[in-house]
Amino acid sequence: MNREKLEAQIAQYPICEYAFIDPKKISFLENVRYICRTECPQYGKSWSCPPAVGTVEECKKRCEIYTGGFLFTTIAEVDLMGDMEEALATRMEHEEITREIRNLFLEECKEVRVLSTESCAICEECAYPDGPCRHPEKMFPCIESYGILVTELAERYGIQFISEAGVVTWFSLLLYT
Ligand code: SF4
Repeated sequence: MNREKLEAQIAQYPICEYAFIDPKKISFLENVRYICRTECPQYGKSWSCPPAVGTVEECKKRCEIYTGGFLFTTIAEVDLMGDMEEALATRMEHEEITREIRNLFLEECKEVRVLSTESCAICEECAYPDGPCRHPEKMFPCIESYGILVTELAERYGIQFISEAGVVTWFSLLLYT
């Protein structure tokens, strides 16, 4: 992988912070899955979330084949008085950037797996569970759906999670080999 070339290309995007990470340092936690199950309204409603993504153990196995990882954030400012649509629009921008970064990695690597932020929102209504995902090439499972506590991973690599009023930090994690 030509990391210098890749980093020069990545610099063209509005990425706040990034780190190349060691996939072996990722923790896959049943506790995170418990939070999905008990607190997230998207649990059982999307192909990008549990239980559709498989057990935490299956997610871990899927990730073990990758030799490298790339974690990055984008930051968006949202009007606190605005509605949720504005926050969602900033997320869609993050997802588009994630797709383009994925394509850059695909030029350099054999295989790339992408996990991104929250439940997939490409379709107005997810096809789960009655039919297959309509856009498997564009859909990225939520990082937490794999049992990964992304804030802990970010902290380990010095990436900030900015949680201020009116600021949203979006994360994506690419695994490659
Ligand atoms: S692309 Fe559509 S069908 Fe697939 S996970 Fe996203 S919302 Fe569901």
